[in-house]
Amino acid sequence: MTSGSSRPSQRLSPRARLLLPLFLAVLLGLTLRQLWCAVPDRVVLSGPAMGTTWTVTLAATGRSRADLDTARSAVEERLETVNRLMSTWQPDSELSRLNAHASTEPFAVSGQTLEVLRLARDVSQKTGGAFDVTVRPLVALWGFGADARAPDDPPAASEVAEVRSRVGYRLLDVDPTAGSVRKARPDLACDLSAIAKGYGVDQAAEALEALGWSDFFVEVGGEVRVRGQRPGGGAWRVGIERPDEAGRVVFGVLELRDRSMATSGDYREFYEQGGERRSHIIDPRTGRPVGHGVASVSVVHERAVLADAWATALSVLGPDEGARAVEAGGFGAFFVLRTPSGGYETRAIGDFPEVRLRPSEAAGEGSEPAG
Ligand code: AMP
Ligand code: MG
Repeated sequence: MTSGSSRPSQRLSPRARLLLPLFLAVLLGLTLRQLWCAVPDRVVLSGPAMGTTWTVTLAATGRSRADLDTARSAVEERLETVNRLMSTWQPDSELSRLNAHASTEPFAVSGQTLEVLRLARDVSQKTGGAFDVTVRPLVALWGFGADARAPDDPPAASEVAEVRSRVGYRLLDVDPTAGSVRKARPDLACDLSAIAKGYGVDQAAEALEALGWSDFFVEVGGEVRVRGQRPGGGAWRVGIERPDEAGRVVFGVLELRDRSMATSGDYREFYEQGGERRSHIIDPRTGRPVGHGVASVSVVHERAVLADAWATALSVLGPDEGARAVEAGGFGAFFVLRTPSGGYETRAIGDFPEVRLRPSEAAGEGSEPAG
């Protein structure tokens, strides 16, 4: 009599018995791969770029490792391109070649550089030349920028006047149709440090959008652009630093929605001379570093390239002179001003999100997104 309840393996054909371990091994492999490839809801990518660092925070639910690798490569590629075109530190960048082009003949430039120069000129026109990318010789005179060191003594007024005569946005003709720029004098030199980082942020954001990412935070050297929501939902949160040398302490926090924010300030780069603070931001109208007590300006704008340019522009103009341009432009600015007693006061202008000021010295917290 044969038993109808024999052990299952005995019911399997010899061939199936041979394949079962193989099948189980494949199943185990797939499960492990799934676990290995699972991506957390919040992913932070980062790296060096443009003489500083970049950070991208992604709401990555349901995405794969391969998606993250593609996102990283795309961001790196865009930032490298911007650097290759617009760096004043790389002798072979497009900008350095334009600066070395000691001629009044047209100089062909890439569409990206042209776009940045065109936007820069627009901000120059709207600020009466307070923002001016031809400021480079003045930046060098005061000891900033590539290869520069602080002078032992402040430059003489005659020297400032001579160098200032080589500066002026009207001396650079930008011709988008011809795809070229033309200097009105051969010794004109440009510095895109006040605007290129923001442009890089926009480029990185565009690359992520093109790959189908809809919820991200992009930051290059403190200039930020966000889209969608942070992981877990809600608006992305951005910190404004306390503008002192002690370092990265959060001063206030705000929520950003599909916007960019850039910050400029004399606290970021400066030196002291004869008890005076020399900022790396120069007022091209006087030829001298700004010195009117603006510790920092944060600008919230749709595009990071414009937030960046306007943050620098408003560092030159100050809150009183700058208010009209901010209102007319329909964006927002947040000033941190030094008071005579050594403290700070703040002033928001235009369409700036509410800043929740932290009780002073929330030490230990960085200014990165709380997202
Ligand atoms: P940011 O950190 O964006 O405010 O850019 C500051 C940098 O822009 C400086 O280090 C200079 O290289 C350059 N710069 C200084 N003053 C001006 C100005 N008035 N307009 C445009 N660029 C400037
Ligand atoms: Mg700027």
